[in-house]
Amino acid sequence: PTSTSTSNPAAMASKKKIAIMTSGGDAPGMNATVRACVRMAIHMGCDAYCVYEGYDGLVRGGDLIRRMEWHDVRGWLSEGGTLIGTARCMAFFERAGRLKAAKNMILNGIDALIICGGDGSLTGADRFRSEWPELLEELISTGQLKKEQVNQYRHLNIVGLVGSIDNDLSGTDATIGCYSALARICYAVDLIEATASSHSRAFVVEVMGRHCGWLALMAGVATGADFIFIPEKPREDNWREEMCGIIHEHRKRGKRKTIVIIAEGALDRQGNKITPEMVKDLLADKNGLALDTRITTLGHVQRGGTAVAYDRMLATLQGVEAVKAVLEATPETPTCFIAVTENKITRKPLMEAVKDTKEVAKAIERQDFELAMSLRDAEFSEQYNSFMMTTAVQLDKEIMLLEKERMKIGFINVGAPAGGMNAAVRAGVAYCLSRGHEPVAIHNGFAGFARHPNDKPVGAVRPFNWLEVDGWASKGGSEIGTNRELPEESGMETVANLIEQHGFDALFLIGGFEAFHAVSQLRKAREKYPSLCIPLALLPATISNNVPGTEYSLGSDTCLNELVDYCDKIKQSASATRRRVFVIETQGGRSGYVATLSGLSVGAVAVYTPEEGLSLDMLASDVRHLKDVFAQDKGQSRAGRLILINEKASKVYNAKLIAEILRDEAHGRFESREGIPGHMQQGGVPSAMDRSRAVRLAIRCIQHLEKFGRGAHNRVKRDEMSAGVIGIKGASIVFTPVKDLEENETDWPNRRPKAAYWLGMKEIVDILGGRPKYEQPEPDL
Ligand code: ATP
Repeated sequence: PTSTSTSNPAAMASKKKIAIMTSGGDAPGMNATVRACVRMAIHMGCDAYCVYEGYDGLVRGGDLIRRMEWHDVRGWLSEGGTLIGTARCMAFFERAGRLKAAKNMILNGIDALIICGGDGSLTGADRFRSEWPELLEELISTGQLKKEQVNQYRHLNIVGLVGSIDNDLSGTDATIGCYSALARICYAVDLIEATASSHSRAFVVEVMGRHCGWLALMAGVATGADFIFIPEKPREDNWREEMCGIIHEHRKRGKRKTIVIIAEGALDRQGNKITPEMVKDLLADKNGLALDTRITTLGHVQRGGTAVAYDRMLATLQGVEAVKAVLEATPETPTCFIAVTENKITRKPLMEAVKDTKEVAKAIERQDFELAMSLRDAEFSEQYNSFMMTTAVQLDKEIMLLEKERMKIGFINVGAPAGGMNAAVRAGVAYCLSRGHEPVAIHNGFAGFARHPNDKPVGAVRPFNWLEVDGWASKGGSEIGTNRELPEESGMETVANLIEQHGFDALFLIGGFEAFHAVSQLRKAREKYPSLCIPLALLPATISNNVPGTEYSLGSDTCLNELVDYCDKIKQSASATRRRVFVIETQGGRSGYVATLSGLSVGAVAVYTPEEGLSLDMLASDVRHLKDVFAQDKGQSRAGRLILINEKASKVYNAKLIAEILRDEAHGRFESREGIPGHMQQGGVPSAMDRSRAVRLAIRCIQHLEKFGRGAHNRVKRDEMSAGVIGIKGASIVFTPVKDLEENETDWPNRRPKAAYWLGMKEIVDILGGRPKYEQPEPDL
């Protein structure tokens, strides 16, 4: 996600005392938040404090409010739960408790409080803030504090951060921890699927979410479950028949496994609870489906463990933003919390979000489910529709198009495999079938297309088999095969002829920079070959995340998770020797995205990117820094230190050489090793985020193609959107014409977008990693 810059710290900061607290249920990523807040506060010239044990710490004071040093939060990025503790604090519900809390804040000289928690914690924070003036008056009038002690603290500066696995706060697309919980759920469901398939069983999986169905919904989307139950959107009164009908249809088509995901708070339209037992009894009913059905309640494993890359990144960027918000706040600024919309980090009024969130619960209680759904973010309803479209395939006659509107759509993967490619194909196919289109697989990219025309024994163009494709939601790699070859290399004339021969009305391409280049070539060749005047939609999928027109490509999240996993392990392996630096080489082509973002997520000492380059002088500066670091390290932390270098950051220096230089320069003060994770960065099973986004974006792509319809040659020629790339840009999802991107936004020699939105994050990696600011020396004239 994008974030504002961190410039000019000295001008912004007066010596303030900023405290950070975690509250409510623990969530993966909370430690990353604390680390970011502590270090950013120190960087900005403030004193950083932690309030231990949530509001309990504030009420009880004493050593539960502690000053934090830079090194106190070392290694916290990879720790699960919250290391400063959390609690459900009854005392804070009472005014007397909040009075004590106010007194402790003032006695410790705390100017500002950053609270990371769920809607309850943020409600508490808002209440505390609104009561603050009265609390101060009471502290003075009861003689507990003197007026002069209080004067400096007349205004309570509070900023909220949403840490919760449920993703239940209105106004933000994601809460810190929700994607980690989703990852755990998907992992569990993937495991269950194997046994379900083996025994031809049904599983009812219960997941967390008393008032919020985000986890159940997204898990349903990402795993391709057969049915889901969520509190905000109960199915119609005939849900029993509906569920059994869909599952019966899936079984009839040969599916051997059935997965139903149910949120803890699932309800029917009358507000009655739907329990896993009820669902199980239905599925097992001897007079109905008679499926061998088991219930699995995932429970607290959903909270567990280390945070996924996205949560670490979100927690870190939001923590940095919270400190900035604190420092920029005036008594007039409304109290804010830090949100994320698609890919953009923003500040939003806290009160409103808390109010909207409470409204959802009330709306559910009143059975006003439409309002409940509308108060969730835009992604929620869209994903709900995606889920229904991809599970109840061909069952809803109302969404079926008229015969003349139906299209024959070719699906093609181009470039290297990336996590989520198969999920995108699966969703696209299911959506096409629901609408009456004819989805067709083109195997092995343009090379396969051109070299194996259908008159040969093994044609590259084959219809999809629903049953086979339905199993692809969680599969890594590319099942229809992918190839880097561009249409011009395969022979544009052959490609154009084949498109005509097969009667394709549109092409849906999934792939990386090569896919972008391919669309560009096809578009340009339209003049010469009229059969290419069909709509083309590209869904970017590459671990390098270097496709113009988007800030996110499928597969990049999977890659970051692989790198984070790798780096965590490597870091830990140094615990026996202590003084060790690892130089890790990442992929990414000429884009430093994965190197930078994984550096942000694991806390790298330095990241070298092709965008910035790497000079001898820079290396020397980092060597000096590492010497200082090891000289000061009195063994507080046993984990190793990491430098990340993108494979193309330098023509001269690579991971091995840098490791050797460090070893030589260290003179025995520390050791160094290189590590090259290589192709494991493509990942095995794609991440939950890549899988769920694949579904949403693939459906949008087919809908984009549908807008042109069949035989729209003239319109295609006129409308530049007819060759478009779907992308997440800032706070929205947009299609951009390839023509615009080719001409204005593409750095062709370096195969990446001209502007890298994430460059600002590099500065945050450096700040939070404690790397001294590197100034390029004046050139010697
Ligand atoms: P989760 O989403 O994981 O449940 P949460 O922050 O919503 O997290 P809660 O247990 O609702 O968790 O709230 C945490 C703490 O915040 C409470 O124990 C209490 O100390 C404080 N708190 C919550 N609501 C209020 C309120 N209305 N007034 C004062 N304090 C509150």
